[in-house]
Amino acid sequence: MRIAGFQGILYGVVLITMFLGADSQNIFFAQNKTEFASQPIAAENKTMNDSTTTVTEKPVKFHQVLEKILRRRGLKKQDICNEEDAVQMRILHEYGAIFVAGKSAEPPPKCMFTSAVEVEGFQQRIFKAAAEIEGTRIELQTIAMRELLKAREKAVQKDLSITPRGGAEAARRSFEDTLRLCKSRFEPACRYWLKAGRLTASEVKKLKSLPIKEQVREVLELEKQGIYFNTRFDDSILYSVAAPGTSQHLSLLALDVAEFENEKVRKILALYGWFRTVQNDMPHFTFLGRQKRDLKKLGLKKIETKDGEFWIPNVD
Ligand SMILES: [Zn+2]
Repeated sequence: MRIAGFQGILYGVVLITMFLGADSQNIFFAQNKTEFASQPIAAENKTMNDSTTTVTEKPVKFHQVLEKILRRRGLKKQDICNEEDAVQMRILHEYGAIFVAGKSAEPPPKCMFTSAVEVEGFQQRIFKAAAEIEGTRIELQTIAMRELLKAREKAVQKDLSITPRGGAEAARRSFEDTLRLCKSRFEPACRYWLKAGRLTASEVKKLKSLPIKEQVREVLELEKQGIYFNTRFDDSILYSVAAPGTSQHLSLLALDVAEFENEKVRKILALYGWFRTVQNDMPHFTFLGRQKRDLKKLGLKKIETKDGEFWIPNVD
């Protein structure tokens, strides 16, 4: 992490003062001056409202909203995702809710990072903050952290708690982390399907030798035949762990929450812009910085399950 600039320190002090009442958490900030100046949070709220008042109540298609939002960032859809590439499109449709995050949050520059250098470059230039929550130090984009800490305060008032699940990896991850986590699902699944006779030793060997992007493509093809790579071998690996370079955690806009099963906790997180946007990934929350009532207008659709709701891109 970079050394905080003077303005960063000032801002940190302001926020620390804001959150002095919060229990068991220390907050650290590292931003640079330019980023601070370029992210006016108050102006963001206005933009959010402006962008949602003109659309009607009927379901809005994700790609329409995405185009509009990208245009405002001076980007086109092909800048973030190759529409000819089925894997990239699948990733966009599974994890793409992150692209409709409010303007104070910075979505990734593309749907799939391809190297550690690319991820580090992005993580270095964004406006980020760290906090120690019940002994775990996590890092998120500043706006996401600010709203998380507010949600934590609200939870405390209701005798609830919101804590990271599984250590520091609950929030910021590196490209290498996503590689390792993916391997932790991929390797056991290879062994399982080999034993079950659905994959041969040479197929497994070939699969393991592929470059990462091709490996993801091949895994998703196998899953179409029922050869699944999640932890229980009964669903897509994408709902268990993100393919390398695609995780929302790389963008510092995701947090795995220990208390995800508690509906009251989920409601509080939603009040502060945190929603579950990856179907079936139960503990995984994404910072959208949006209000629940606006999500449909932003091209997301609600999936209701017995374990609560998910907001995913409306692409059907
Ligand atoms: Zn997660």
